[in-house]
Amino acid sequence: MKILLIAISALFLSACGGDGNNSTTTQKDDTIYTLKLAETWPSNFPIFGDSTKEFARLAKEMSNGRLNIQIDSKNKHKAPLGIFDMVKAGQYDLGHSASYYWKGKDPNTLYFTTMPFGMTASEQHAWFEYGGGQELMDEVYAKHGLRSIIGGNTGNQMGGWFQKEINSIKDLQGLKMRIPGFAGDVMARVGAKPTNIPAGELYTALERGTIDALEWVGPSLDLRMGFHKIAPYYYTGWHEPATELQFLINLKKFDTLPKDLQNILISAMKLAAYDMYVHSEYASAQNWANMKKEYPNIQVKTFPNSVFNALRKANDELLEERAQANPVASRIIQSQKDYLEKARAWTQISDQSYLNSQSK
Ligand code: CA
Repeated sequence: MKILLIAISALFLSACGGDGNNSTTTQKDDTIYTLKLAETWPSNFPIFGDSTKEFARLAKEMSNGRLNIQIDSKNKHKAPLGIFDMVKAGQYDLGHSASYYWKGKDPNTLYFTTMPFGMTASEQHAWFEYGGGQELMDEVYAKHGLRSIIGGNTGNQMGGWFQKEINSIKDLQGLKMRIPGFAGDVMARVGAKPTNIPAGELYTALERGTIDALEWVGPSLDLRMGFHKIAPYYYTGWHEPATELQFLINLKKFDTLPKDLQNILISAMKLAAYDMYVHSEYASAQNWANMKKEYPNIQVKTFPNSVFNALRKANDELLEERAQANPVASRIIQSQKDYLEKARAWTQISDQSYLNSQSK
């Protein structure tokens, strides 16, 4: 009798899910969820495009094949600067682009890529993950039925390629330059004529004189674009100290995913973002070494202090105006300012002191 009772209770426990603690049976869900991603970049674009492929690979492996990400480059969808609209409308489920491209659609999106004279990549990552940055970004994007997750950092960007030297602020006045984001607004404030042009059209625009100067990224991606052949002056950066790309998610679609796949999706994005950051740093070091060797005529320049001072003044004025005009912008700007003050004091006595001790 005792043996029979044990057998019956074992059967009962097994039917309940095994250990007797679960009251419901775990359902095995083998449904494959296919999500379409549109990226701003052309097909097989190095580093940026590698990060979306890495994200798709990670999502598939981590979900045991249940997440299938289909990537369309701009060659397919033909709208490199239309990612925000396409993901918002549900035409695509996911996107990979840069938040500051959407400043004309929602001015508060521009604070989540990089800011002139702002945080470095390590400072900004800490702000996103621990300093309230992600929560502010969630607030801005939720209004549009979207969520934005970090999508990979380029590290500090170079100030761009110029055909003429910049010796005073007068040299920026009337200068037609491709420069997106808040830096474009700062340039306009000092008299330049900023514009945003997608990557694939940059070389032709500079060659044909549609623009006089441009900034793209830095050695990691600039060399293959050939800008050095038509603009000899390569200026150091001030405008994009930590350009973070973004993954965009259509929230309605996201809500249809099981909880575990939602977590896997976000984790795969953050891992792909980390991969892009270290890939960028590696490629910058590698390509900079090659550039110096293969193209000794490239002249590396830094704006004179008088130009930096004018740009910083314009930057501060614009931040003040934006904060006064928009309560959400005010909170984002204040959050970045407060965090940067603390983070920079630490960077100065840690990394900066260390680097100063290494300089010859
Ligand atoms: Ca740039």
